[in-house]
Amino acid sequence: MIATINYWARHYQSVWLERAADPSLADWLRLACLAFAKHRANGHANFAPGELGRLLAKPGPDGQLKPLTKSAVSNAIKRAKDRGWISKESTAQCLVVPPHAIAGGCGKHYEACRVHPYRNSLKRQTDLRSA
Ligand SMILES: [Zn+2]
Repeated sequence: MIATINYWARHYQSVWLERAADPSLADWLRLACLAFAKHRANGHANFAPGELGRLLAKPGPDGQLKPLTKSAVSNAIKRAKDRGWISKESTAQCLVVPPHAIAGGCGKHYEACRVHPYRNSLKRQTDLRSA
């Protein structure tokens, strides 16, 4: 087995938010950028119902911003999951960044997620046992 060095660097979440706002990018990529822009130390990014659609709004033919429909948001989530940019447990209320992709962020890594409370409490128990 060959050991892989996994270098890391810090990234500003505001830059991911700027990228998410670019309507020329694919919806799934903009959504994944939102996950990286908004995740907390536990890797979860919570959104209010309809918030993702509003954040991913695109200009319509009249130039006015139109929120993404619920089904367009669902498709973007599916595509981002299929490409491995967000974890399979992600929903329209919580986008989860793959744990191997990030470290740090606001809050605590064991902080409970309001959408995935059971999963996080298991992670916290595991972390406490191994500490
Ligand atoms: Zn969550």
